Amino acid sequence: MTEGTDGGDPDALAALASELREADRAIALTGAGLSAASGIPTFRGDDGVWGDVFDEADFHIRRFTDDPAGFWTDRLELHEHMTPEGGAGPNAAHEALAELENAGVLDAVVTQNTDGLHAAAGTESVIELHGNSERVVCRGCGRTTAAEPVRERVREGERPPECEACGGVYKPDVVLFGELLPKADLRKAKNLARASDVVVAAGSSLTVDPAASIPSHQQGGSLAVVNLESTRYSGRAEYDVRADVTEVLPALAERVLE
Ligand code: NAD
Repeated sequence: MTEGTDGGDPDALAALASELREADRAIALTGAGLSAASGIPTFRGDDGVWGDVFDEADFHIRRFTDDPAGFWTDRLELHEHMTPEGGAGPNAAHEALAELENAGVLDAVVTQNTDGLHAAAGTESVIELHGNSERVVCRGCGRTTAAEPVRERVREGERPPECEACGGVYKPDVVLFGELLPKADLRKAKNLARASDVVVAAGSSLTVDPAASIPSHQQGGSLAVVNLESTRYSGRAEYDVRADVTEVLPALAERVLE
């Protein structure tokens, strides 16, 4: 077990790099902390948006069903709050994981994030357990389309926005509170964890189940937690690195791929 503030203890990082190099299978599980350096606030931890700024109950599926117009008003506000000026792009942590995945060291990146930044960084195998906020889905016919033009219609007053094809209400193509995660993706993520020699959980408070419970499906192997604060897995992780993902993950990728 290791703690560090400057990219982690070099010996521990070297040991983790060597485990990753030798692993038959490995995955990363990521959360909002991965995108913090891209200017997207986290939900929990310092500066998290829940509590003072927004109320989780406003983003529950029940709210969407009962009051879709009010839901979209709050959803637009949340989106504007979470989007940095000029939009968000991948940072060094997304890029490091993309390098590791492209090199075949990671089999997939399983993410709780809905911002699409792993794919933008070039990761090919991304499992988005909570959906993608850059898409909307029609509750009537299931059609999906890009979110931004729909958000623009909401800004112009169309609340709730409706599907051009069937008149159904559009919902952000994300898993709202009270909704189930996509079954096939969740099963795939659990199976990957089960088969993995190394799981790297990065930038996640590991509090939102069932995504946060994915490391518990590992059978043997090593768990590395990279997060600014302690998580519920920190005590049992082989590597507990309390540091910034934008420092640790590039340093790790460099050691694995050198
Ligand atoms: P979380 O907000 O609960 O936890 C984020 C964690 O990241 C915190 O423990 C924080 O200390 C840590 N962190 C912040 N910056 C960091 C950094 N630079 N380096 C290392 N650690 C850092 O996020 P979660 O665990 O992903 O779960 C919350 C839910 O929030 C998920 O369901 C996800 O869908 C959603 N969410 C997504 C986004 C996004 O798409 N970018 C943003 C906010 C929340």
